Amino acid sequence: MKLLLVLLTVLAVVWLLRGARRVPPPARRDSAPAPDSSGRAVQTLARCAHCGMHLTSADSEQHAGQPYCSPAHRQAGPRTPFGRV
Ligand SMILES: [Zn+2]
Repeated sequence: MKLLLVLLTVLAVVWLLRGARRVPPPARRDSAPAPDSSGRAVQTLARCAHCGMHLTSADSEQHAGQPYCSPAHRQAGPRTPFGRV
């Protein structure tokens, strides 16, 4: 029984360490697309802080560090699970 507990603890630690490495890098929010290694411009996707619609960073409206799809949603502000902030 003790061996099973030790084995489960080791597996949990390995699982947690593997999960920590899978965290993606934070999305870039600059509007100018950066060229990739082939020299082509790369578009980054942004998600509207109000409705969640995905759009390119160049098409989004930035306000207070948040991307928005339209002026109406920029004025409405970010949506939270508990309503407006
Ligand atoms: Zn929106």
